[in-house]
Amino acid sequence: MNASKELKEIFFETKRLLSAYEEMGLEPPMLLRGGLEFAKGPVLQKPGLPSTPSNGTEKSPPPSLKDAAPSPRFDSLEALRAHVGDCRRCGLHTGRTNLVFGEGNEEARLVFVGEGPGFDEDREGRPFVGKSGQLLTRIIENGMGLKRNEVYICNVVKCRPPGNRDPNPDETCVCLPFLKAQLRIIGPEVICALGRVACQALLGTAFAITRDRGHWRAYEDIPLMPTFHPAYLLRNPAAKRPVWDDVKSIMEKLGLEVK
Ligand code: SF4
Repeated sequence: MNASKELKEIFFETKRLLSAYEEMGLEPPMLLRGGLEFAKGPVLQKPGLPSTPSNGTEKSPPPSLKDAAPSPRFDSLEALRAHVGDCRRCGLHTGRTNLVFGEGNEEARLVFVGEGPGFDEDREGRPFVGKSGQLLTRIIENGMGLKRNEVYICNVVKCRPPGNRDPNPDETCVCLPFLKAQLRIIGPEVICALGRVACQALLGTAFAITRDRGHWRAYEDIPLMPTFHPAYLLRNPAAKRPVWDDVKSIMEKLGLEVK
């Protein structure tokens, strides 16, 4: 792609993201505001004349998750769900059957966060209902001795990424305020982040799940346990042992009896 086309794509993508923030009534992150100024500036008007010398290999950085907008403030999940509405704030809405907001106890002590809905979740409009969801339910009910409806289960993005790919940073940036608002309303004692994408979104940093799982972290002062996604466990049954160790740590933190 030549420099002119690349700059135009950056401009239109920045405009699209800013429209999404405007629609949500949120202040766009500095990075996007700066991006628009950049796109409006002389570089766009003269795409063949970059303002700084280039070797032609630089790429514009993706929006940082740390730049995600502040989350909207609502008193209840019902009010937040109404605000999310028939959301079209990012491109993922085009491929969804149902928006998967999340489900469970609004006063849950424990929240599980995955990355995004899969095929079954998209079809049913509920989180973690396919094979990996059934495994998560067994972990909650058989392993922890809780009922599924005692905890809260949701994802970073609420609409299914095509082909179950990871959500893009810009999609995550636009949707993340909803997850943050859910967590603020629920105020859990512990968050269990399932897989790398959920850990990165909540911790705002690159994360190597194989290396870093099992070590307590914090999301806004709430203890966060990173562990493998159930879909990974279905492909790698040997990983069930370390996940059980992580689950036991969560139970100890919650004061639940570990059998
Ligand atoms: Fe809206 Fe999130 Fe769905 Fe994107 S993924 S359309 S931001 S609800």
